[in-house]
Amino acid sequence: AIRASSAAQPLQNADELIDFVETFIFDCDGVIWKGDSLIDGVPQTLDMLRSKGKILVFVTNNSTKSRKQYGKKFGQLGLTVTEEEIFASSFAAAAYLQSINFPKDKKVYVIGEDGILKELELAGFQYLGGPEDGGKKIELKPGYLMEHDESVGAVVVGFDRYFNYYKVQYGTLCIHENPGCLFIATNRDAVTHLTDAQEWAGGGSMVGAISGSTQREPLVVWKQSTFMMDYLATKFGILKSQICMVGDRLDTDILFGQNGGSKTLLVLSGVTSLFMLQSPNNSIQTNFYANKISDLSLKAAT
Ligand code: PLP
Ligand code: CA
Repeated sequence: AIRASSAAQPLQNADELIDFVETFIFDCDGVIWKGDSLIDGVPQTLDMLRSKGKILVFVTNNSTKSRKQYGKKFGQLGLTVTEEEIFASSFAAAAYLQSINFPKDKKVYVIGEDGILKELELAGFQYLGGPEDGGKKIELKPGYLMEHDESVGAVVVGFDRYFNYYKVQYGTLCIHENPGCLFIATNRDAVTHLTDAQEWAGGGSMVGAISGSTQREPLVVWKQSTFMMDYLATKFGILKSQICMVGDRLDTDILFGQNGGSKTLLVLSGVTSLFMLQSPNNSIQTNFYANKISDLSLKAAT
């Protein structure tokens, strides 16, 4: 039987894990691809799991693309993955608003890129903001007052390479002045690997700016919350205990799997090294770890 252990174990008997698990949730960056390159052995591993009838789900905290845009990326990498199997944090923001019956006559102010706008549109929500918003330096003449739309009922913040001061002020006004206005974050990643040369400030930096000015904490809809695990379990009719969350990051993927009561497999093909996993400073333990997902195809030593 697959037992939970307090210390991480190397994945030695993949067949046993595969037999036990009904659904594999794969994180994307660092697990399926790195930037725009496919990680070794991924197509064969996904084919093998599909041939065993497993449900495969792909999740990413990266909110810049919609499900449809990610579908294209999977296709370009030679992977057959349908839009319905992809759950990006852009989609999660729209799914969350749907789950709380966010009124269609209210608007969403978006600090973020195209992916969030596309998902809100598909879900039938009205929105304003997005990458083009603001842009120019605000000329602060005496008596200048920024107007804002009083029908904004939610501010959604994701990763935004066009982030500016106008957006901070506009989002803050909505949250402070519109009664009941929600503050939603797609994710809170501190850093991301936009290039392999260094770490870049992640979506958490934009969220932090709004949190800093409003002195409010956001509701995080993706991996740092239980919302999406509950959503996926209901959507696919699966037991959370029979899910295996596969990710490369301890404080998002592995914690997300653990909080959801699922099995966890850390792969070392992304941001976490074995050294970091085994460091006394690390308090997040995974059930299993492996070099990359193709280790799921390795046979146990006899
Ligand atoms: N946010 C941004 C902006 C990113 O570029 C990335 C990775 O490319 C992520 C988040 C993390 O993505 P994932 O959850 O797939 O590891
Ligand atoms: Ca990742």
